[in-house]
Amino acid sequence: MGKAKTFAIVTLGCKLNYAESSTIARDYVKKGYVQTAPSSKADVYIINTCSVTEHADKKSRQAVRKVLRQNPHAYVVVTGCSAQLRSEELSCLEGVGAVLGTGFRDKAVAVAEDGLAGIVLLGPCHAEGTIFSAYSAGADNRDRTRAFLKVQDGCDYRCTYCTVPLARGGSRNVSIKEAVRQAEEIAAAGVKEIVLTGVNTGDYGKSTSETFPALLQALSGVSGIDRYRISSIEPNLLTEEIIQFVAKTRNFLPHFHMPLQSGSARILKKMGRRYGPDVFARKVQSIKDVTPHAFIGVDVIAGFPGETEEDFRQTYGLLKQVKPSFLHVFPFSLRPNTKAAEFPPSERIPDKEITKRVQQLGALSDTLYEDFVKANTGRKEEVLFEGKSAGGNMHGYTRNYIRIERPYDKSKINTIVEVTL
Ligand code: SF4
Repeated sequence: MGKAKTFAIVTLGCKLNYAESSTIARDYVKKGYVQTAPSSKADVYIINTCSVTEHADKKSRQAVRKVLRQNPHAYVVVTGCSAQLRSEELSCLEGVGAVLGTGFRDKAVAVAEDGLAGIVLLGPCHAEGTIFSAYSAGADNRDRTRAFLKVQDGCDYRCTYCTVPLARGGSRNVSIKEAVRQAEEIAAAGVKEIVLTGVNTGDYGKSTSETFPALLQALSGVSGIDRYRISSIEPNLLTEEIIQFVAKTRNFLPHFHMPLQSGSARILKKMGRRYGPDVFARKVQSIKDVTPHAFIGVDVIAGFPGETEEDFRQTYGLLKQVKPSFLHVFPFSLRPNTKAAEFPPSERIPDKEITKRVQQLGALSDTLYEDFVKANTGRKEEVLFEGKSAGGNMHGYTRNYIRIERPYDKSKINTIVEVTL
């Protein structure tokens, strides 16, 4: 018998990409390939790229170049959002075997088996509402404790700064039945925690005439999954029903992630967002009313075109007032083919000013997180320990997403332990 072929995957970007990479990895394993780390030699490399910002596109290209340089004899497959939006730049790199748009991820094994060079498969991101259903679990050692389950893909919103609908297509979802089946597979792999993932997760249900609360209800009954987290959900789609469900359902954790992007009603409108600052503030308050110790992570963009000092002050002021637990701060990045790219250049905020605003929000985030941790001090919390951290301790997260370290004890890994914070 000949030696089994090997493959390695490099993943950039979001949880969806990680889920999709794991599914591609399982497809390779089914075909008899053996997975190796990207740093060791493999016969096939898959680079799953990201295009969320200019920087992400650049990093994706660099990752492809690095793999090509270090592995001149390997077959190299490039897929993901940057492959969909920047196929020409990627396919002309010397040595790339195949560039697969986001609608062709399922061909990642077939192209490598054929071994033909210069393959470019592009087209609509999805045919007739189909979805490349995916989850990360058990494909490599990092995935043993927490799995990302993709329940939804694409987006029908048209925020003026965002290229995701161009890269991933319209909103569609897996059925509740399929999501439950995958959650059962994840449980069978020994994973205890699932993060429900999508581009616009709260938009779940459109393509199957189902609802997001019905999905949550069905998943909560899957035996073996002790913990669910819901990834980013739009403020206008985070309903009272969902907030109440999370508060009363033991295996749905008090952890929310909501994009605010701006605290200025004027800028939100210019961004094409579907809520105002008041709606956002109300949702944060509703969460705090029923789950006072919930972790609330919030995305903010600094330096959107036309964002005046007064607009920024409103964003800063709103966040200081509603007190989420943490901020993910993004400097505005101009993306080709978006409406924001057509705004008059005079509206652009100078890089230096954007950096200043990012720093101010970063400092606010540090304070908010410190306050959140302080408010939890002395409380008893359950931690799911995941593995060894760099310093030799073991680490894990509480139900409300506080990272905890304790001296390493192998018997505690992938178990839930009560600790006093
Ligand atoms: S909701 Fe807006 S920002 Fe989010 S993916 Fe859709 S278009 Fe992009």
